[in-house]
Amino acid sequence: MADYISPKPVDPFAYQPHAFLRISCRCGRKEIYPLGDFARVHSLPGELKLYQLIKRLRCVICMERPVSANVWRYP
Ligand SMILES: [Zn+2]
Repeated sequence: MADYISPKPVDPFAYQPHAFLRISCRCGRKEIYPLGDFARVHSLPGELKLYQLIKRLRCVICMERPVSANVWRYP
């Protein structure tokens, strides 16, 4: 059965305002952000696609790219 609800990499931000961005870094940092808040704080355009966002993520502590990052409907 096709899954039309789960966030997909090609979804623009604006489609998933109530989803959660989950990031974990090699340095041990783990963060979960409500996607809508994350977009507001970083002034991200609503048409930015989720995979484009994930490519741009950098850890604020060690400046490395995350070992895993995804967007899901639940925290
Ligand atoms: Zn880090």
